[in-house]
Amino acid sequence: MQQYQINEDGFYGNFGGAYIPEMLYPNIEELKNKYTDIIKSEQFQQSFRLLLKDYVGRPSPLYFAKRLSQQYKAQIYLKREDLCHTGAHKINNTIGQILLAKSLKKSRIIAETGAGQHGVATATVCALMGMECIVYMGAHDIQRQAPNVGRMKMLGAKVIAVHSGSKTLKDATNEAIRDWISHPTNTHYIIGSVVGPHPYPDMVARFQSVISEEIQLQLMEQTGRDYPDKIIACVGGGSNAAGAFYHYIDQTKVDLIAVEAAGAGLYSGKSAATSVLGTEGIIHASKTLLMQTADGQIVEPHSISAGLDYPGIGPMHAHLLTTKRAKAIAITDQEALQAAYHLSQVEGIIPALETAHAFAALEKIRFHKNEVVVVNLSGRGDKDLQTYLKYADQFINQKHKSDAK
Ligand SMILES: *Cc1c(COP(=O)(O)O)cnc(C)c1O
Repeated sequence: MQQYQINEDGFYGNFGGAYIPEMLYPNIEELKNKYTDIIKSEQFQQSFRLLLKDYVGRPSPLYFAKRLSQQYKAQIYLKREDLCHTGAHKINNTIGQILLAKSLKKSRIIAETGAGQHGVATATVCALMGMECIVYMGAHDIQRQAPNVGRMKMLGAKVIAVHSGSKTLKDATNEAIRDWISHPTNTHYIIGSVVGPHPYPDMVARFQSVISEEIQLQLMEQTGRDYPDKIIACVGGGSNAAGAFYHYIDQTKVDLIAVEAAGAGLYSGKSAATSVLGTEGIIHASKTLLMQTADGQIVEPHSISAGLDYPGIGPMHAHLLTTKRAKAIAITDQEALQAAYHLSQVEGIIPALETAHAFAALEKIRFHKNEVVVVNLSGRGDKDLQTYLKYADQFINQKHKSDAK
């Protein structure tokens, strides 16, 4: 039994809770009172497990990355969430939540999306279940993640552009919450990360925990030991990291490393490194760390990666980081691009821009010889090709220069 848990009010230490407007109270109460029983029921578990296996393609492989391992003198394993249906870990959560929405007899689904991966994963499960789907997406993200916008439309979802604020994930989330307030009875809001009011952070973490459940079995098979020395995952809201950490949180011998986006530089004013720059406050109905001014105005975040471009962090991570159970590393846009090109060229895997941050962190860690490291490869990079190609000259030239030495 996992020791690390939220308390009855949905708090991890000081962080979490449900700071909701009055109008959302009935929706959140219904979810809060029913989610654990529904998730634990045999019927739910059967449907969930079957869909994860036959529809998503789980278990996702744990791949020993030989060339990366040689380079860093550690045993580096990649948890291949990029091979899940729709190309990222997000589908684990949307499968869980759509089954939950069905149990709650909801007919209309809303979601927010940044990089579009959660939007695509939501549109996918709505098509699967024949449900109406509306996705809110920042106008800036619609521009930089065009392939995913196309996919959502083809899957039958309605994509609504959000023009407020920095026109990114935070603003899309605000709009989705507004929609939920005006459609309280027939609508379920599928949040895409371990953020938002209780019970979302716990619910999403449980759905994503299949990642570390599989890592335990796969490491046992491949190394004879069911735990790694280090787990590295990128953190936007924190759902892929929560899933990769989940079954290891109680095991303090396993280092948990959360990688954030430093954007143009940690102190450049254009960053999304919440654990360093954030202070305690409330965002999207949850008490957590967020980037804000002295008088509580949210600071607009910046990251080249739409999925990490968020001024807050899930309350579980706020707790793990402030209690020093987990450690944060911040990676700039430039470092992430470089890591994406490097992984593509040494392992033949083009990662999502979000995921590239986790790989860039390998450069900042000193490994003990041959220690076992798992990097959570949260998603594939097809959606980011347009961005990658903008920088192609820079990185391909660099490679040739270093080859010539
Ligand atoms: C959405 C996304 C992320 C960031 O979200 P988390 O909730 O922090 O996991 C990271 N990687 C990929 C590939 C994504 O699509």
